[in-house]
Amino acid sequence: MEQTLSIIKPDAVKKGVIGKIADRFESNGLRIAAMKKIQLDTKTAGAFYAIHAERPFFGELVEFMTSGPVVVMVLEGENAMSKNRDLMGATNPKEAAAGTIRADFAESIDANAVHGSDSLENAANEIQFFFSKEEVI
Ligand code: GDP
Repeated sequence: MEQTLSIIKPDAVKKGVIGKIADRFESNGLRIAAMKKIQLDTKTAGAFYAIHAERPFFGELVEFMTSGPVVVMVLEGENAMSKNRDLMGATNPKEAAAGTIRADFAESIDANAVHGSDSLENAANEIQFFFSKEEVI
């Protein structure tokens, strides 16, 4: 079974829609194999988004991701990585298709409710970044 990493970002946690977002996954055939609520610090958020370190929005991204708790999850199911990306919708919520998580719960390109791994290789690395083997069950 394929696995992918999802993060419910600080905007969605603050809004109180953890359950609503988790329901989108479970209602669409994705099992939650691991889940925890954590507060990221600057070092951890910077390391997680290291791939974007040279992008102009990197500072804003790290600041936003550390602005409050997040919920990190491992989602498991058939085509979990691409299914999660479909459920999330486009990065910019203004461009996200109706009925997607970002269309329904996100405000802006930085406060865009969720993160999801964008390749199987990244998914494996991102899962390892947050979870030990024993935590994914
Ligand atoms: P994702 O895979 O859909 O999350 O998008 P990317 O991997 O391209 O970017 C990672 C995250 O950086 C996005 O989810 C946004 O929160 C943020 N981001 C991307 N582009 C911009 C931008 O132009 N401005 C700002 N402020 N944030 C951005």
